[in-house]
Formats: sequence, structure tokens, C-alpha cells
Amino acid sequence: MVDSCYVGRFAPSPTGPLHFGSLLAALASYLDARSAQGTWLLRIDDIDPPRELAGASDSIQRTLEHYGLFWDGSTHYQSRHRERYQELKQQLLDTQQAYPCNCSRKQLAPYQGYYPGLCRDGLKGSGDCAIRVLCNSTIEFEDRIQGHQHFALAKEVGDFIIWRRDGLVAYQLAAAADDAWQGITHVVRGIDLLDSTPRQRHLQQLFNFPLASYAHIPVLINDQGKKLSKQNLARPLPTGDPRPVLIEALRLLGQQPPETMVDASLSELLAWATKLWSLDRIPRTVEIPTASIKAGFDV
Ligand code: GLU
Repeated sequence: MVDSCYVGRFAPSPTGPLHFGSLLAALASYLDARSAQGTWLLRIDDIDPPRELAGASDSIQRTLEHYGLFWDGSTHYQSRHRERYQELKQQLLDTQQAYPCNCSRKQLAPYQGYYPGLCRDGLKGSGDCAIRVLCNSTIEFEDRIQGHQHFALAKEVGDFIIWRRDGLVAYQLAAAADDAWQGITHVVRGIDLLDSTPRQRHLQQLFNFPLASYAHIPVLINDQGKKLSKQNLARPLPTGDPRPVLIEALRLLGQQPPETMVDASLSELLAWATKLWSLDRIPRTVEIPTASIKAGFDV
């Protein structure tokens, strides 16, 4: 389907080199954008210096190029937009839609991830503060892969953090802001971020930002049942011939590349995948075990 208003993006955090799990997300979002003749942008989520690895941002870009996944325009670095995030935070504080919170982890441990609004009526005691946004809403949306989503944010999450105690912008605020500022219309990303989507939509609604459509793809899990990630030391993507790796990624995304594709060039392979791309064929599961990878490379 041609969607001339399609703007998609891939938004890696530069905490390490790309691995096979990140390739699935990059490839799915690239193909979804290109098959709609849309724009595909690259955003580097470099807002968390303590977790970043020197050189990762460059290595991610070289790897995307090596796999033929070229993005449009220049790379967007979140670290260059700190002032704009500050302004949004201030706007929420000024309109009493956000408030400082100095609750300690220990104090919050009994609530198991839910924030019961302890600082809503003012701080108790002293100490560094995070900023939380008021959250009284329920968020619903149609995920293009996972179907109808209903999140009782107020009941299950409570007021969540938009500015961290260490003075850094929280991922939820930066992502909500950038998706809107970059005019992103379609987000395709891993299902591990599905529960971030209602938080980001809640913020976008508060700012009257336009809302994107979402598709969350299954994530790869390793033999220990953990998501393949830079934190649990997933291997960097192979630097050799990208084609067998892409063919395997396409297979796991349900796109059924024919045997003959092994002889295609990289650009022919991506052109084939773009032409026949179908989100409907992506498995409706949450997890894909790495054990189901047939091709001979380490993940
Ligand atoms: N930077 C986030 C990550 O690598 C993803 C951001 C997003 O797709 O919204 O997990």
C-alpha cells in the first residue's frame, strides 16, 4: 500500500553494537517504511551517558549501512535537544501536571513498580528529586501486529518519571517528544517496548502532539529465556556477508524468502523484501527463541 505520509524511524540507544535482535527491529521498520514509499529516519537515543559505550553510535551507523539499511536525511541525536526536553518538563511543572518526587527505591519497593502518588501533595523530607507526570488516564490503541491494547495506566503504573533524579531526561519524555517533533507517523519496534507506548501516548496527549500508529514485533530470546540485548552480551552482528543474516531475519519475520534469494545481491534482496513485505505475516507471538535460528552464525 502506498502511504505518501509515512515517516518511520529506528531509534537505537548507543549502549553497544547492533545485534541480531536489533537487526530484526531495524529491518522491520525499514521495510515497513520503504514498502509504503515512506521516509525512514535514524535517531540515536543518547540521553543516558552512564550506559553508553564510546564509539557505539558510529558503529551502529556503519552496521546499518553494511546491511544496506540506509536512512533518509541526517542522523538525529537526542543529546543535542536537551533544552527542548527541559522546556517540556517546565511546561508540565508550570501547569501542575508534573511534580517533584524524592521517594527512595526502598520506600517504593512494596508497590512493585506502581507509584502510589506519595509526593503528589508535596515532598516529604529532603534529597534529590525526580519529576513525575500526573497520570489519571487509561490508554487504548490498535497495534498493527498485536491488536487492540488497553492499559489502565493510572491503576497499574501511576504517575511515572519524566525527569530522572540524576538530572537526565527520562526515555519516555524524550521519545514522546522526538517522535512528535520528527513527524513520525509509524513506529515499528520490539514488543519489549509495548508498555512504554501508553506512557508516550499519555505525554503526547498532554502536549497535544499528533499520535503515531504502532506495530510491536516479537523479540528474540536466548537459551536462558532472556531478551537478546546489549546488556546480556548478545553478539555484535556479523561483519561478513550481510545476505544470509538478512535472509534469516526475513524468515523469522515470517516473510518466507525463497531459496533462490541466496544468489541475489544485497540490493536485490532488499528490493524483493520491500516489494513483498507484509506485516500480516509477522508471527503473532511475543518471543522468538534464538534456538529457531537456522543460519550458521552466532547471536
Ligand atoms: N532507544 C530505545 C531502545 O534502544 C528504543 C526507542 C524506541 O524505539 O522508541 O530500546
